[in-house]
Amino acid sequence: MLIDFHTHTTASDGALSPAALLERARDRGIRLLAITDHDTVAGYRAVAEEYNATAGEMRVVPGVELSCVWSGVTVHVVGLGMDCDHPVLAAGLARLAAARSERARVIAERLAKLGFPGALEGALAEAGESQLGRPHFAAWMVACGHVSSVARAFDRYLGQGKPGDVKAFWPELAEVTAWIVAAGGVAVLAHPLKYKLTRSKLRRLVADFTSAGGNAVEILNGRQTPDQSRQLRQLALETGLEVSAGSDFHQDAAWGAEVGVELRHLGGLRGVWQRWLPPDGCAAGESM
Ligand code: MN
Ligand code: MN
Ligand code: MN
Repeated sequence: MLIDFHTHTTASDGALSPAALLERARDRGIRLLAITDHDTVAGYRAVAEEYNATAGEMRVVPGVELSCVWSGVTVHVVGLGMDCDHPVLAAGLARLAAARSERARVIAERLAKLGFPGALEGALAEAGESQLGRPHFAAWMVACGHVSSVARAFDRYLGQGKPGDVKAFWPELAEVTAWIVAAGGVAVLAHPLKYKLTRSKLRRLVADFTSAGGNAVEILNGRQTPDQSRQLRQLALETGLEVSAGSDFHQDAAWGAEVGVELRHLGGLRGVWQRWLPPDGCAAGESM
């Protein structure tokens, strides 16, 4: 059975509209789908009305991917199944939107100092209706001829450790986790290996996440090596947390994963998806 609990649409930095992603997921025969745009539930909302009528066998679960900091590192927490109208979550999302604008202003200031004025206006134009992010700055830099490609923009100006890597404005991990829990959702620590932490620091991150009410770790995020899968499975076993999985689909790309992950590859750990499987569905546990 195919599921996907980590996907992006044009509501954040994905290439497909929410409706197009829904269509793709349905065509692929996915049974459970969460749209987890960065810091917004707009992608989920856009399809929430429609999916009951059109999705057939597929169930769409509310989702979001929240940005936060932990010990100076930018960390992502995926929320699943929350009440998108809950006032605590709504206030949190408003705060993240403000943080995102503030971050964009600082990125633009830094780019201006490097000789690239007008970045904020340019990135806003690139973003259109989408949640403003570094990919929009990258697209603007390419459009202006400042760099030859988006990859180069990240390598030189926007990626980790570069001038555009501004992380100071995100709320703390414990706060965003608490918002998801308050809104009745399941909090998942996204792609734990992407933070490049030492083993002991990663254990501390997971411990703090659990104390804040976190429920699960993502053991599959897009394409990963068998060794990464082994490490993540081990992390879930050691911590006793539930597990989640998704493609982290943003767009069709040679390096990215297609929408949908196969449950039977995910082992006998406790999947967050068990909450949303139909009662008659191929149930849970070791058989997966
Ligand atoms: Mn993204
Ligand atoms: Mn992420
Ligand atoms: Mn993501």
